[in-house]
Amino acid sequence: MTDTQVPLTPVLPEVRALLDRNLELLIGGISQPSSSGETFETIDPSTEQAVATVARGTVEDVNHAVAVARANFESGVWSRAKPNFRERVLLRFADLAEQRQEFFAQLDSIDAGSPLADTRAAAAGLVDHFRYFAGWATKLHGMTIPVSVPGQWLNYTRREPIGVVAAVIPWNTPIANAMWKLAAPLAAGCSVILKPAELTPLSAHAMVELLYEAGLPDGTLTVLHGYGDVGAALAEHPDVDKIAFTGSTEVGRSIVRASAGNLKRVSLELGGKSPAVVYNDADLSKAIPGIFNGIYFNAGQICCSSSRVIVQSGIYEEFLAKMAEYAGGLEMGPGMTETSRLGPVVSQGQYSRVSGYLKIGESEGARSVIGGTGAVNDNERGYFVRPTLFADVTPDMRIFQEEIFGPVLAASRFETEEEVLTLANATIYGLGASVWTENIGRALRTADGIKSGTVWINGHSQVDAASPFGGFKQSGYGKELGFEVLQNYLGTKSVWVNYL
Ligand code: NAP
Ligand code: MG
Repeated sequence: MTDTQVPLTPVLPEVRALLDRNLELLIGGISQPSSSGETFETIDPSTEQAVATVARGTVEDVNHAVAVARANFESGVWSRAKPNFRERVLLRFADLAEQRQEFFAQLDSIDAGSPLADTRAAAAGLVDHFRYFAGWATKLHGMTIPVSVPGQWLNYTRREPIGVVAAVIPWNTPIANAMWKLAAPLAAGCSVILKPAELTPLSAHAMVELLYEAGLPDGTLTVLHGYGDVGAALAEHPDVDKIAFTGSTEVGRSIVRASAGNLKRVSLELGGKSPAVVYNDADLSKAIPGIFNGIYFNAGQICCSSSRVIVQSGIYEEFLAKMAEYAGGLEMGPGMTETSRLGPVVSQGQYSRVSGYLKIGESEGARSVIGGTGAVNDNERGYFVRPTLFADVTPDMRIFQEEIFGPVLAASRFETEEEVLTLANATIYGLGASVWTENIGRALRTADGIKSGTVWINGHSQVDAASPFGGFKQSGYGKELGFEVLQNYLGTKSVWVNYL
C-alpha cells in the first residue's frame, strides 16, 4: 500500500472554480441559497479535508421545487416538446460532457475518493449513457390495437410522460447514480428533481448546470442538495408523481411507506450481497481478476459487488491463495493520483461501519486470509481499508448475510451444483450474481437457478445503458437502464375513437 506521498494530479482550473464558489440549490435552474440559509461541507475522503460548501435544502425548498416542476410540466415546454427537441438537448449535453470528461472525473475523485482511472471511465460512460437515452426520445410510440367490441372503433395508445419525478441517490459512483436518474426521465419528457447524497453533491450539480447549458428549458430540472429529510419530504409530497430511489433497503422501505399518501409510483434500486459461484473447472486466470474487480473496485462500494464468493471444494484453497496474491499487487492511494487502483471508503461513518464488520467476521469465526481486523489506516489521513478476504464463511454469519459496502470478500465452500444454488440464494438480496465455469450447461443451469436481477457468466458487474439492471427480492423493483427503465417514467393512455 502506498501513501499520500504519491504525486497528486493537478486540479483543473474549472474544478477549482466550482469548489471555490458556494454551491447553491438550483431550483428549476435558478441558483439560490437554502430557505434557511444553512450550508454543509463536502469532504475529500482521501484527505478528510472540506473541499466545498453546499446549500442545505429544507422542506420549504422541496415545496418550492415541486411547485416549479409542476408548473414546468403543465406548461408543456418540455413534456410536450417535439421529441427531436428533447433528443437534441440530450445529445448536446453529451457533446459538452465529452469535452469535459476530465472535469467530471476529477469532481468524483475529489468528492468520493475514487481513483481517477475509474472516474475517467465513469465520465466516458456519462457521454454514452446520454447518447443512448437521447435516441429514445423520438421512439416512445404507442400502438394501434385491433379491438373486438361491437361497432367501428379505432383504439390506439399514447406513451405520455408520467409527470414530476423526484430522484434520490446515494454517494457511491456519483456520476453513474446521477446519470441513471436524469437521462431516462428527461428523454421521456418528465420534469425532474434530483436529491444527491450529502456526501457527494459535486458531479450531480455540475451535470444539472451542463444540462441547462445544453438548452434544457428553465424549470425542467432541479438539484436539491441536503440531508435525508429532503429525500423524505420528496417521497411524501402529494404533487410528486414518481419517486426513483437508489440507496439502502432500509431507507427504501421508508420511501414506500411515504409514497402511500398519493400512491406515487416508486422504483427502488437497493442493496445487494451478490454471489460469485466458482466451479472446479473455472478458468482462474479470468475468475481471479474478474471477482477481484467485482469486489474491490471502488473499495467495494458498488451495489452489485461480488461480496460473496462460493467456491467448489476442489479448488477452494487454490482460489483463496491466488486471490490473496493478486490483491497484494494492488496499489492503494488517494483518488487524485494516476496510479491508485483502490481509494478510501467515502466517509468516517463508512470507515467505522466497514471496520466494525471486520471485527464481526473475526468474532463469528471466519478465517481471515488478507486484510481482516488488521486493515487499519496506514496513511496519516484518509479512510483507507485494505482489501479483505474472509474464508470459511457460513450462512449463519452476518458477514454472509449483510451488505458491508466495503472491500470485504466473504468466501464459502460448496460441493455440488444443487448445494450451490441454496447457498447463492440464501440472503434477502437478489441484485447480481456471477457463475464461473467452462461448462456451458452448468453455467446456464446455475444462471437459471439464481434469484437475481442480473447474472453474469464468466464476468461480474458489467453494465451497459442498453441492458436492464435491477433487483429481485429485497434488492428492489423497477428496472434501470435499457428500454425497460423508460416504463418507470411513462404512462400508457388508451384512446377509443368511434368512427361508425
Ligand atoms: P441511504 O442511506 O439509503 O441514502 C441514499 C439516499 O437517500 C441519500 O441521498 C440519502 O440522503 C437519502 N435518504 C436518507 N434517509 C432518507 C429518508 N428517510 N427518506 C428519503 N431519502 C433518504 O444509502 P447510502 O448509505 O447513502 O448508500 C449505500 C446504499 O445504496 C447501499 O445499500 C447500496 O447497496 C445502495 N445502492 C444500490 C444501488 C443499486 O443500483 N441497487 C446502487 C448504489 C447504491 P443523505 O445522503 O443525506 O443521507
Ligand atoms: Mg465528499
